[in-house]
Amino acid sequence: MEYWLMNMKLVDSHIHLYSAEYLDKLDDIIREAIKEGVETILCVAEDYETGEATLELSRKYDVVYPALGMHPWTAINNYGDLDKVVRQIEENIGEIIAIGEVGLDKKYESGEKGWARQLNVFRKMIELAEKYNKPLNIHSRRAAKDVLEILRIYKVEKAHFHWFTDDENILREIITEGYYVSFTPSITYSKRMQRMAKQVPISQILTETDGPVSFYGILKGKLTKPIHTKLVLQKLSEIHGYPPDEMAEIIYNNFKNLYGIK
Ligand SMILES: [Zn+2]
Repeated sequence: MEYWLMNMKLVDSHIHLYSAEYLDKLDDIIREAIKEGVETILCVAEDYETGEATLELSRKYDVVYPALGMHPWTAINNYGDLDKVVRQIEENIGEIIAIGEVGLDKKYESGEKGWARQLNVFRKMIELAEKYNKPLNIHSRRAAKDVLEILRIYKVEKAHFHWFTDDENILREIITEGYYVSFTPSITYSKRMQRMAKQVPISQILTETDGPVSFYGILKGKLTKPIHTKLVLQKLSEIHGYPPDEMAEIIYNNFKNLYGIK
């Protein structure tokens, strides 16, 4: 790591900390993250079980904040769990800072039935977010247009598109709506992601890892960890021409503004 990036406020706004890859290593990973300046880690759930694990981790580590929700893949494969997840969200609403990971996915659409399930689950998640005034942490693979359409119908104000990889015209519309967009370490090597990051105003940018998803470039073969948001921050500050410490401060404030933490 570069010496000039020491002690910056870092934000990981989307990670799956309960994943098997992190088991037994988590104490070290969190300790290292805090030492390197990571201020907030938003752990997103995918289903009921990962939701329980997310709550447990957030109770154990102060730096970890929980989000609960039903992922579009879970909507397809475990649709019957919807009521259980809804109950889980409502019972823990005072503890969570977001509804996520939720959204739509057209890569794993699974036909008409799967798509109908995804839509139904996503609508339910939005209704909960609106009812309890929580931001949405959104997955939108190849479905950003559909996601945006639904957010507009519900007049959703607080949404965060995680690792946006869809059409650049849709990205412009997302920005116009005032939603947030986060970038992963893929920005260090993907020219397309760099081009997209340039289009997002700094007041709407966030950093994330989506760990344990693995990356190429200098992270090839390495376990993705919250400290890797430092690489994202470095690239974003280059792209937008801001000193890294200022960029870090802006991103940290964006996170606080959206998720309402103190
Ligand atoms: Zn994710």
